[in-house]
Amino acid sequence: MNIENLLKKTISSSQYRAINILSEQFDRLGIRAFIVGGTVRDILLGKAITDIDIVLEADPQDVTSEFDVKCEVEVHSISQFGTCKIILLDQIIDLAMARKEEYLSPGDLPVVEQASFEDDLARRDFSINAFAAGINSSDWCELIDFHNGLADLTSKQIRVLHSKSFEDDPTRIFRGLRYSGRLGFDLEKGTQKKMMEGLRFLSLLSGVRLTNEIRKIFSEENSDAILSLLDQYEVMTYAHESFPNGADLTKRRDLLQSVGIDPHNRGFYAFVSLIGSTERQNAIERLNLGNEFMKFGSDIGRIELLEEKVSRSELNDQLKQISETAIMVAGTYVSRKTKSNLDLFLQELNEIKLLIDGQDLIDLGVPEGPRVGDVLSKTLAHMIESGSLSKSEQLIIAKNFI
Ligand code: ATP
Repeated sequence: MNIENLLKKTISSSQYRAINILSEQFDRLGIRAFIVGGTVRDILLGKAITDIDIVLEADPQDVTSEFDVKCEVEVHSISQFGTCKIILLDQIIDLAMARKEEYLSPGDLPVVEQASFEDDLARRDFSINAFAAGINSSDWCELIDFHNGLADLTSKQIRVLHSKSFEDDPTRIFRGLRYSGRLGFDLEKGTQKKMMEGLRFLSLLSGVRLTNEIRKIFSEENSDAILSLLDQYEVMTYAHESFPNGADLTKRRDLLQSVGIDPHNRGFYAFVSLIGSTERQNAIERLNLGNEFMKFGSDIGRIELLEEKVSRSELNDQLKQISETAIMVAGTYVSRKTKSNLDLFLQELNEIKLLIDGQDLIDLGVPEGPRVGDVLSKTLAHMIESGSLSKSEQLIIAKNFI
């Protein structure tokens, strides 16, 4: 099957020209090259292509240095496993060396070795991601489907290529469910069984890899459906006993959206806020979310412990070091009374500012030294209890404390 017509429909004209330029270069250098994986899957599905992945039977770094100067390829970045991002005609294209992988222990990154493109297709996760299409002139756009991906695309199935796949790389559990939710495909029966057997290896995944997969799910258009698939297989519980389930995440994320929490981290704010306070720091460490989330976790923990009956100044003292994001997030689930305290802080107390400074007090005759700070903080405390004042009113109050 030749997919040139489909390719032309799904990529832009500059992407098409860029692939043609690469084709000439690979022909000239005698290197076999293929568009591969999800790129071919999406071409076959008629979806617009943003990422073009090309596999070469050579090291991309060596190859790009041999390109004609006139093709003006810029190497944008080189990543782990020797993949090169290049820019050609303003298009970003990934060039990767064909490789095979050996998994020494479940959950670890594989040991990689240069290989044929046949090996490279065999190391992939699912049949619908194991396509290739030639870009040399001898096999231009010829579809290569060693793993019967076309049949699975037609019958809308996600099928794993080998039995130890999920054990080797448990991220494929998230990936498989992500494709299933995104495309509305079912997991093939055998794959379902293998996935269930692979669940126990999820606990071996590093925090970075785990977070990466969860983040990808959060950024999917159809993430609610994917989160519900995670529940069906109890994926989150297998990853860590304290992790929240998908249905709760969906509800909490919707709430956070309604109060305008930034979309980039919304999913993880929801995630962390759903974990019980005693497990929270542990879970943040498990996910390797870093200091910002450690602070967020402890901030919401402090909010959850707020007494409902507090004076204005106590409230101010308790919340002044807490991030606004944490207050807004916690505001979506704390009691009504605590929520109105949080609103009082954000809308009123937090806006109360001293308009006088040390110099104003020195001008009033306060000697330089700790007294100045003391009078300023008493003036502020007075305003927190009784409301904001103009600068001249603040000076009058300050005089009482001198
Ligand atoms: P998306 O549309 O979400 O970007 P994609 O299929 O392009 O999906 P990538 O994560 O960009 O996925 O990976 C590109 C290709 O590399 C996949 O289509 C698949 O063939 C292969 N691949 C990626 N991750 C794995 C993995 N963990 N195990 C096996 N193959 C993988």
